[in-house]
Amino acid sequence: MNAATYIPQYEPDFGGDDALAVASYMKSGGWVTEFEKTEELAEKIAAFTGARYAAIVPSGTLGLVASLQALGVGAGDEVVVPNLTMAATATAVAMIGAKPVFADIERQTLTLAPHSVERFISSRTRAVIHVSLNGRAGTLLRTLEICKSRGVALIEDAAQSLGSFAEGRHLGTVGDCGVFSFSSPKIITTGQGGAVVTNDAAVAERLKRLKNFGRASGGEDIYDSIGFNYKFTDLQAVLGLSQMAKLQERMAKKKELYRFYRDGLIGLGEVEWIETDLTSVSPWFVDVVVENREGLRAFLKESGIGTRPMYPALHAQRAFAGLDPARAEEFSVSKEMAQKMLWLPSSFSVTDRDVARVCGEIRRFYGDNPH
Ligand SMILES: *Cc1c(COP(=O)(O)O)cnc(C)c1O
Repeated sequence: MNAATYIPQYEPDFGGDDALAVASYMKSGGWVTEFEKTEELAEKIAAFTGARYAAIVPSGTLGLVASLQALGVGAGDEVVVPNLTMAATATAVAMIGAKPVFADIERQTLTLAPHSVERFISSRTRAVIHVSLNGRAGTLLRTLEICKSRGVALIEDAAQSLGSFAEGRHLGTVGDCGVFSFSSPKIITTGQGGAVVTNDAAVAERLKRLKNFGRASGGEDIYDSIGFNYKFTDLQAVLGLSQMAKLQERMAKKKELYRFYRDGLIGLGEVEWIETDLTSVSPWFVDVVVENREGLRAFLKESGIGTRPMYPALHAQRAFAGLDPARAEEFSVSKEMAQKMLWLPSSFSVTDRDVARVCGEIRRFYGDNPH
């Protein structure tokens, strides 16, 4: 076989600068919990995205939960979510006692299909969560129009979209709230973490109270509203600040990687690409639509190359199966794409030689040997 080193689908990248930031914070005598460094990270996220307000939260999932709560969504309400997304989009809805209602996606963009959103908005719908998979806005602006005309809130699950834009606006800033994730595989990471952005001062104030037990300020024990503990830690915030300093460079690397793969697989009929405008999108992972995905995965694994299938269609997962069994026939696109979408190695450490090796193996699998 191949003596070349194993290429994982993804591994995070930390440098000496990150280590130094954490060490010098620890030496500074901070309390570790949320304080000025977390505030500084929130300001950085707001400035970078152009949002008026940002709140740092312990995870993207809790960012979605906090957004739903800040927008007044609660028990018994319905929230429309795409059927092909990371499960947290739907579990955040379940966590507040509301009901996730799945809508199909559009094949060209992998984002919510407007006709399906229209079909599933009911009198109980309080919000729609749009997911910009891999940084593509897709149907975001059309979904915004639907939400406006139906009087429901729009939350953007932009967990994969830090560094990506729609018509000049950073993703996450188009809806009532936008949520980013800083979990380990995301473009910048604090291990766990996330941010909620909004342009609405009242929503920002509710987020602040939700984070801090309902209090208006730090140590004051006056409770005007129910709140929880969605605070961050300054220890993670210094890592986040150190990672934010590398964001521009990482956006360029994501684009370059996507371009290398696309060029490397050009003309191969079994591999299809989702249209991606690299002037506005920094693709999170390199995703392709492939024939015989499981066969390809096994073949690449044998050659020391890691891949990851994109998400399953959520309506068919046992956790959600009770929700809408009658609607299963509506999900033709998400069902198809859940079987065909594959993530190729997308670490920052992947070199052009690695990409050439991966593309060569993919061509070999499909029997298209150019040599
Ligand atoms: C990563 C991710 C989440 C969850 O974020 P966590 O920080 O892991 O809680 C939610 N939605 C999407 C689309 C994601 O990619």
